[in-house]
Amino acid sequence: MTLLQDVAGALGVSAELSVDLSAIVTNYRRIGSLCGAPVGAVVKADAYGLGMAPISAALAEAGCRDFFVAHLSEGLALRSELGPGPRIYVLNGVWPGSEGAAVAAEIVPVINTFGQARAWRGQAKSAPVAVQFDSGMSRLGLAAEDAARLADDAEQLGPLNIQLLMTHMACADSPRDPANIKQLAAFHRLAAQFPGVPVSFANSAAAVGGWASAGDLARAGLALFGINPVPGGAMDLSPAIRLRARVLQTRTITAGTGVGYGLTFVANAPTRIATVAMGYADGWPRSLSGRGVACYQGTRLPMAGRVSMDSFGLDISALEPGALKAGEFVDLISPEQTIEAVAEAAGTIPYEILTGLGSRLSRRFTKRPERPEHG
Ligand SMILES: *Cc1c(COP(=O)(O)O)cnc(C)c1O
Repeated sequence: MTLLQDVAGALGVSAELSVDLSAIVTNYRRIGSLCGAPVGAVVKADAYGLGMAPISAALAEAGCRDFFVAHLSEGLALRSELGPGPRIYVLNGVWPGSEGAAVAAEIVPVINTFGQARAWRGQAKSAPVAVQFDSGMSRLGLAAEDAARLADDAEQLGPLNIQLLMTHMACADSPRDPANIKQLAAFHRLAAQFPGVPVSFANSAAAVGGWASAGDLARAGLALFGINPVPGGAMDLSPAIRLRARVLQTRTITAGTGVGYGLTFVANAPTRIATVAMGYADGWPRSLSGRGVACYQGTRLPMAGRVSMDSFGLDISALEPGALKAGEFVDLISPEQTIEAVAEAAGTIPYEILTGLGSRLSRRFTKRPERPEHG
């Protein structure tokens, strides 16, 4: 650890996000064994802000054959990373005029409207697609009447080359919500018009939440990163991320002295304050002002005052005098403070914390050699 800290210091790193690729691969396999279906990796938004290229490469090496992104641009970047072979689906579909680029890179669009189906068949002929149905979330996907039109149309105009039928569940993180059963029933009714095509409906929560079936292909994002998609559930996933930032400066302030913009924190006794190099520009939410915590060698320390763009104040009075000097790191996401806890304190969900982690953070990817298999 000290060696790594020295390296970070030598490079002038202020805040570091480390991503454990081995833990992500472990989680990928764990999700597969929990749901009993092949698992596709959802790596949209730069793999939830963590780094699409190294994460996808590690998963492909571990045998993952299906990847999902949201935008065509992400799909093209991923194709150049992975090379030919793995299937890359674009969840938001492709805009008219970009069908050629998608076909050239063997990108599979998710068709969400009847018009998109027509345009694809016109431009891209029999290049493969996924088709998504809206089964009750009212977000993306063909409504029931359009699904029926598509089934009829396929008979008249020659088939769209449909490789996967999809839907997305609105309430998968509440496994007992009756909306889940309604949506699944609606989805299976629509899918029955396209017999023999594999079906996909399970996000992380549905894949690890003990559902009777996860269909033919799960689509997991959050759980890959070791984050529990079902609040309160125990899925035995491996934590894959750590976030830490360095102390820029420390000072002792007298009773009555304020900290940060608006002086919203005022010391009621002599107080030691550390200024930590992590701000809302790095994705440490301003809503943590006066509520958040950082950890130093296992001691939880309360944040003091508002989060600035590039730093926040930390009350380090609980530490031994002289402990925690400028240049040392405090932990922001770690086993002592999970991202679920950070999200809860910030009034949001882990997805938003993850995808908000700034491009300025130094990202470090670690990988342990795989243990050889023993008979
Ligand atoms: C983002 C997304 C997923 C992955 O969701 P997680 O909860 O992160 O597993 C799956 N399917 C669709 C359609 C999505 O948009």
